[in-house]
Parts: sequence; C-alpha cells; structure tokens
Amino acid sequence: MENNFYKIANRNNNLGTETAFTVLAKANKLALEGKSIINLGIGQPDFTTPEHIVEAGIKALKDGHHGYTQSTGMPELREAVSNDIHKRHKVNISPDNILIVPGGKVIIFFSAMLLGEKNKEILYPNPGFPIYESAINYSGANAIPYRLSESKGFSFSANDILNKINDKTSLVIINSPANPTGGVVPKVELEILAKGLEKFPDVVLMSDEIYDQFCFGENTFTSMLTFPEIRNRLIILNGWSKTYAMTGWRLGYGIFPKKLYGIAEKLAVNIHSCVNASAQFAALEALQGPQDCVLEMNNTFKRRAGMMQNRLNKIEGFSCQEPNGAFYCFPNITGTKKTSTEVQNKLLDEIGVATVAGPSFGQYGEGFLRLSCANSDEAIEEAIARIRNIF
Ligand code: PLP
Repeated sequence: MENNFYKIANRNNNLGTETAFTVLAKANKLALEGKSIINLGIGQPDFTTPEHIVEAGIKALKDGHHGYTQSTGMPELREAVSNDIHKRHKVNISPDNILIVPGGKVIIFFSAMLLGEKNKEILYPNPGFPIYESAINYSGANAIPYRLSESKGFSFSANDILNKINDKTSLVIINSPANPTGGVVPKVELEILAKGLEKFPDVVLMSDEIYDQFCFGENTFTSMLTFPEIRNRLIILNGWSKTYAMTGWRLGYGIFPKKLYGIAEKLAVNIHSCVNASAQFAALEALQGPQDCVLEMNNTFKRRAGMMQNRLNKIEGFSCQEPNGAFYCFPNITGTKKTSTEVQNKLLDEIGVATVAGPSFGQYGEGFLRLSCANSDEAIEEAIARIRNIF
C-alpha cells in the first residue's frame, strides 16, 4: 500500500521528460502484442557500433580493466579528445578542460546546476531537446525559450538571442545541428552571437555539438570552439552516442573553462564517480581507429533524410523542409487539421508508426512531428506508405 505520509521535495515537480522514451515503451508493448511496428520515434542510429570499437571494449574487460578510473576520465582518452578537436577544428584544448561523462546529457544537467538558480534566467532553443527545459526548471532558474522558426530553416537569429539577455541571464544554450528540427545554424549567425556576447561577459554559453559529424546541407558545421573571444566562458557538449552509434554505452564529454571545471568534476564524483573503464577503452579506439564508419553514416543519413522529406511532401497536409543535419525530419502537419499529439497517437495506434509530436520539444513545436531517419530504407518507405494511406 502507498505511504502518503512523507513528502517529496518540491523541486521534483519541475522535472520534465523525453517523450521519445515514452513512445518507445508504448511501441515495444504494441510489438510484443504482435502488432507490426515501425519505429521512427527514438533518436539513435540504426547502425550497430563498429566492430573494431566493440572489440576494444571486450579486450579492455579481458585485460582486467574492471575498476574505477579517474573521475575526470582516463588521461589517454582526454588526450585523444583533445587531439581529435585539434584535427577537426584546428583548436588547442587542454585535456585538463575535458571531462568524460556517462552520456552527453550529463553536461546539460551539469551546466544547469552550475549556472542556474532562483532569480536567474537561462535561454534555450524551442523546439529543442526537451532535457534543456527540464534541467533549467530543476535548477530553479527561469527557462526562457527562443524560437526556432520554420521560415528561417529552423536556425536561430543571433540578435533574437542577444535581445533576450538581461542582467538575470546566466547561461545561453544552443544546439546545431539540431534535434528535433534537423536545422543547422549558418556560420555568420554564430559569428554575430560570439561577437554580441562580448557585451555580456557574465553570460556563459553552452553549445551542444553532439550531431557535429552529421551535417549535410549547404551550411557546414562550425564549432563554437573556433571563437576565441568566448572560450573562457564556453561549455561544449559532445560525445560518442551519435557519431559512433554508441548510445547504449553511455559515453560523452564536456569541455569546461577552468573556473567551472573543478566544480563539474565534483559533481561527477558525487553522482557517478567515473565512466566504466571498458567503455572508455572503446571510446579511445573510436577516436584513434578508422573514421570511414562516420562518413558512411553521414552519407546514409543524408540520403535517407532527402528520401524521407521527398515522400513526406507527397502526403496530404504535410509539408517538410530539407533537413541539413542530425537525422530527423520535422514536417509541418497543420494541413492535417489535427494537433501534433493527435497525429502522433493516430500513427502509432492505427498504423503502428512511432513518431514524436512536436510539443514534446517545447510549445513552439505544436504543428510539427519528428520522424527519425535512423531506420532502414525499406522501413522508412513502408512507414511513409502507411501514413499516406490514412491522410
Ligand atoms: N543533446 C541532444 C541534442 C540530443 O539529441 C541527445 C540525445 O538524443 C543528447 C544531447 C544526449 O546524448 P547522450 O545519449 O550521449 O546522453
């Protein structure tokens, strides 16, 4: 029987969630009941982790790497991240600023805990990854959305963000390539943002670059690390989940300026101690081994995104912009005259196609639906054919 005497701390009322996991659970249940389900809901590559990376993880276990590692991550792995950043962005980042964590998501929570509290404001993209808003609310700060509009290719306008900054603003969160929209912010906007932030030296920027290697439109990827003027108050979120199809290994990293690093490390010690050793050996192999797997995934997602967009645009009531990165299509479905949640439920319940309704990514997501391209060509074709049949 439930005990109704104790009281749960109030802050927990502020926690949000990721609907993609709820949809996944419902889709799995329907599949178990024998229904034919096509899952375009969850955001993870349909590839398995490349063999050489898996082997490195197995070898680490067989070699006896079963204990704790440094709470900041193995030194050789932090060194490898630093080298990778130099190779890709021509920027020198000391391994002493790199923190290995169990999944990129951890960096969102850490950033909110480091900079959010009552009477502070944190700006975040909307529609955007739902954990931003949830973590900000949990920190006690006010979550202030900035809108990503379809008319701007789901990019942000730097001036729009800068205009929202006031003396309460402690943190700005950006994400490009973006979940759920597939939008990529052009370099020129990022330049305006970095330059504009010079006027607000007490505001920290957190750039979520987890989809950096899946960028295929006309706007190429630009890391915020390439703007030295904001480096001393820049947090970077990145990791292995998407790039190397390693979502279940729980492996990510953050880059923190010196002033924040020590506290982020303390949070790590308090919460998870360290990332499991074998996963870190696998991560080392991922960075140091052949990179053709990354290119192959990028090419595949680009092709599938184009194919999915093309087909979605033939469905009555749907209109879909070309995704420029990540692995999602985010069609406008207002032409169906139904709400996003009605469409999401109709697709799963009537035809077994799992998608995620736009409002799961914030209030400005109403009128949109997220479909993941991380499924086989056949599955995507079949799913879109089923959708076409009922609209
Ligand atoms: N940031 C964005 C924009 C994401 O879409 C995700 C995962 O879907 C994450 C962060 C978290 O990644 P991880 O699985 O490494 O925690």
